Amino acid sequence: MKLNLNIEPLESWIKKGSDPLLIAGPCSAETEEQLVATAHLLAKTGKVSALRAGIWKPRTRPGEFEGIVSIGLKWLKRAKDETGLPTAIEVANAKHVEEALEAGVDILWVGARSTVNPFTVQEIADALRGVDVPVMVKNPVNPDLSLWIGALERINNAGITKLAAIHRGFSSHEKSAFRNEPMWDLAISLKTHAPNLPIINDPSHITGNRDLIGYIAQKALDLDMQGLMIESHIDPTVAWTDAAQQVTPAALIEIIEHLALRKPEVRNSEMKDKLAELRAQIDKIDDLVIQKMSERMKIVEQIGTYKRENNVTILQVNRWDEILRRGINYGKALKLSPEFTEKLLELIHAESIRKQTEIMNKEAAPVEKLTHA
Ligand code: PEP
Ligand code: MN
Repeated sequence: MKLNLNIEPLESWIKKGSDPLLIAGPCSAETEEQLVATAHLLAKTGKVSALRAGIWKPRTRPGEFEGIVSIGLKWLKRAKDETGLPTAIEVANAKHVEEALEAGVDILWVGARSTVNPFTVQEIADALRGVDVPVMVKNPVNPDLSLWIGALERINNAGITKLAAIHRGFSSHEKSAFRNEPMWDLAISLKTHAPNLPIINDPSHITGNRDLIGYIAQKALDLDMQGLMIESHIDPTVAWTDAAQQVTPAALIEIIEHLALRKPEVRNSEMKDKLAELRAQIDKIDDLVIQKMSERMKIVEQIGTYKRENNVTILQVNRWDEILRRGINYGKALKLSPEFTEKLLELIHAESIRKQTEIMNKEAAPVEKLTHA
């Protein structure tokens, strides 16, 4: 399903300071000196396209630093006047939007905790009606693509065409090295729904850890995301919020300079041929996989019929454990990761169970066979 979003290209509202597009600045505006000094260092790099800063901070628990609020907008204005950097802040209600526009903030974004709530998003969208300002929509905290899409649609329906998405990762109960799981498939899915929607990656909030920012940023560029939003603070060790994930402007540039930029399409014709040949090989293998899946499902149907006639349960846990163990071992020997093999087998198994359930429920098992069971 393609989304019907009316979008202007990124280049129409933000000037690339470098490749990749970079939005940087502190998690929170803390003091006038901290914000202005950070802005100067970022501007001096020549690679930053916009200065970000949190003015109102959505905090999980009350009593934590909830942002410097309105006064920070004045500091932001000073930072912009002195450095020439356009500014970007998070807005979470209509009042934030009004104050931000009044203070001349150039770019607004909807935070992850707001995107989850359609009432909040609609309030922001209504406040934006008739205004020509770029808006970026972070993914919701929870891995729900529809909420993300819904928020983008609400903002777009309000007439905002300078629109982008920010991929900042998703909450997950699973323990991992990341603060928020990237769940790249969701960002890819958004891209397939809205191919002309720019997606900016936020490796700071994905990792929660400055040492992993480069790794995630590279992955985002490899997936053809259009830019990066990275938290940068003049002295991260004393940052009031998100200290572990912020980097100094110097460290930021070090990260950026180590990124490899890959072109979405290859220009050189020799490379094009090579790529076409490899893609053709992949297509052939995919065809084979699908053909084999079809053969497998036909056998599953026979098993379903047999189970029905003999009144046997669909799921036999021992059998499933055996399939998994065998498959994972075989996969390992062929250099496939156990996680991948397990996921693949689970997908195939779920479809097999679905097919068998269909067969079992097609017609009741014949009575005379039941007595034999
Ligand atoms: C932020 O950008 O500082 C922030 C609060 O991010 P998120 O909404 O992604 O948690
Ligand atoms: Mn932050």
